[in-house]
Amino acid sequence: MSSRSPAPSEDMARLRAAIVAAGRRLGARGLIAAGEGNISVRTPDQRLLITATGLRKDELAPADLLVVDARAGEAAPPSDPGIRPSSDIAIHRAIYAARPNVLAVAHAHLPAAMALTLAGEVPDPAFLPETAVLLPSLPFVPYAAAGSEELAAAIAAALTHGQAPLPGAALLERHGAVAVGEGASHGAAADPVAAIREALDRLELVEVLCRTWRDALLVQAAATGLGARAILRPPSASPGSPASGRRRSHT
Ligand SMILES: [Zn+2]
Repeated sequence: MSSRSPAPSEDMARLRAAIVAAGRRLGARGLIAAGEGNISVRTPDQRLLITATGLRKDELAPADLLVVDARAGEAAPPSDPGIRPSSDIAIHRAIYAARPNVLAVAHAHLPAAMALTLAGEVPDPAFLPETAVLLPSLPFVPYAAAGSEELAAAIAAALTHGQAPLPGAALLERHGAVAVGEGASHGAAADPVAAIREALDRLELVEVLCRTWRDALLVQAAATGLGARAILRPPSASPGSPASGRRRSHT
């Protein structure tokens, strides 16, 4: 453990409250189940405050979070000795090491993202106006075992690839997504609480993109299967005829 002096308690209380709120937000939006998901933030003394493994993230209390070293090593003594840091802690450490300006990391098993990648589909954020601006790139990370150093290294590499602005999130094959937050706005000092919210915004945008992509594929498939061109634009039926009315009811 480091000999650095700990962050002021009021700062830590604010960060703990922000992670507790973030966990509730993920739960309220149906983005986590059981003990899924993990959230961390860089503390003022350059450690990490991170969720514990096995606990519901939408039912966290401030004491359910752990302070750990940012690079490796042991967790600081938790308030409850029975809790351990997230099993995905290697992902968080790898990202913070690779992206010094990142102040928060959030990961969730986003249902639509898992479904799409399970089906071999990778959505392109450039196709939707909001994600084109707020998630201009969404790198895809092929499947690797959860909790492995291999997965952590691949995610960190994906989030540092390319030119600025670097990606705000990465899509994980069959494993949801990881998003980061920098917490910077208009030249003001970066705020770790804003960074947590930013990471969650990005996670939610990934899921919106994936839901939209999935729905478009389903509609497209259904329309193709039903002969959509004939249904939507009947070439011979006149408006109001029984045939066209019946057909419109299926659209
Ligand atoms: Zn996971």
